[in-house]
Amino acid sequence: MKALNREVIENFQQHVNPGFLEYRKSVTAGGDYGAVEWQASSLNTLVDTQGKEYLDCLGGFGIFNVGHRNPTVVSAVQHQLEKQPLHSQELLDPLRAMLAKTLATLTPGKLKYSFFSNSGTESVEAAIKLAKAYQSARGKFTFIAASGAFHGKSLGALSATAKAAFRKPFMPLLPGFRHVPFGNIDALRTMLSECRKTGDDVAAVILEPIQGEGGVIIPPVGYLPAVRKLCDEFGALLIFDEVQTGMGRTGKMFACEHENVQPDILCLAKALGGGVMPIGATVATEEVFSVLFDNPFLHTTTFGGNPLACAAALATIHVLLEQNLPAQAQQKGQLLVDGFQALKREFPELVVDARGQGLLIAIEFSDNEVGYNFASVMFRQQVLVAGTLNNAKTIRIEPPLTITIEQCEHVLGCARKALQGLSVKQREMIEVEEE
Ligand SMILES: *Cc1c(COP(=O)(O)O)cnc(C)c1O
Repeated sequence: MKALNREVIENFQQHVNPGFLEYRKSVTAGGDYGAVEWQASSLNTLVDTQGKEYLDCLGGFGIFNVGHRNPTVVSAVQHQLEKQPLHSQELLDPLRAMLAKTLATLTPGKLKYSFFSNSGTESVEAAIKLAKAYQSARGKFTFIAASGAFHGKSLGALSATAKAAFRKPFMPLLPGFRHVPFGNIDALRTMLSECRKTGDDVAAVILEPIQGEGGVIIPPVGYLPAVRKLCDEFGALLIFDEVQTGMGRTGKMFACEHENVQPDILCLAKALGGGVMPIGATVATEEVFSVLFDNPFLHTTTFGGNPLACAAALATIHVLLEQNLPAQAQQKGQLLVDGFQALKREFPELVVDARGQGLLIAIEFSDNEVGYNFASVMFRQQVLVAGTLNNAKTIRIEPPLTITIEQCEHVLGCARKALQGLSVKQREMIEVEEE
């Protein structure tokens, strides 16, 4: 074990990126040899090379909705692996057809046609290109995204992403992208009408219904329906990026269903492959998607929608529906948020806010250091949560939707212990300063 861990760290140092070693808790809080993952030991846990078992409350930032190594998903992929892993690219592939139809049924409103890719970024990239292809004939070229948004890091998706640190080194990005404050309908209305006045008519508005990476920012009730209305008024398409919020995470199959808002284009990925295969999907209405009918080769990808990925996605949807995991997310999410809010009342000097919808949850700390220390102590208690050295003021909790009630209670117990320790430490530091 020690030799293996040393080798992994050395290879990260020499051949992956030494930068990672400074940011990951697996190194900074992982003990003498760091923590190297070895196996998914159950739906909600994984073990490292030392045999330490971690309860996964990070969920791969939202990929393990049906748990790790879900047997239904694994079995579907294994069967397909033995039958035909990748498609011929000439004969019609049946699972692509079945998944596209299933998504048309599962997704809200008139969403009907699917383009499959391999990641969330690619699903956003396809959505942007689709909106461009549809709107360029109408003389509309501007895109509006939101401050705090995360849509991926390819040049197109990055143009919609809002974080300066990710964007600055790659300027200039795609022209025509504007950002407005998330959750502020007046700001969006103003931007749409200013763009019309200047002739920069808006092709599409792209939003996450709840911002994930941005720190689980839930917009005010009524915001998303109002966005839909404004888009209709200005003839702009509405793109929802549900790469993180989709597949049951927020307590409904798709977050836009909380307020019955239907986008023209929906982006999916992350949990769509059931934590077994990577797959992205861009689902659109016939009206929009039909711009690709004449020439389906306008946007393509070799591996997108391959049989293994489609088998995984179909099995994932089956599990989500059969076990009613969206409703479970709602119930267990409420338990966790209530628990974290009680901790906020108990430790107001450390915890500023606790919020969430379903099992997309965030705890906001008084500062980055408190957040990082919290995440580190949780790590040492073998509970995985988000939070890196430079990004820990708000920590996301995104366990598999299969997490048990007992495990939720264990997490709350560990969180309380961590906060008690940090609270004592903080008081001691204040006393030292006062002396
Ligand atoms: C993670 C994420 C992406 C990017 O997905 P990748 O699979 O990492 O390319 C895009 N949008 C949202 C909302 C995400 O959370």
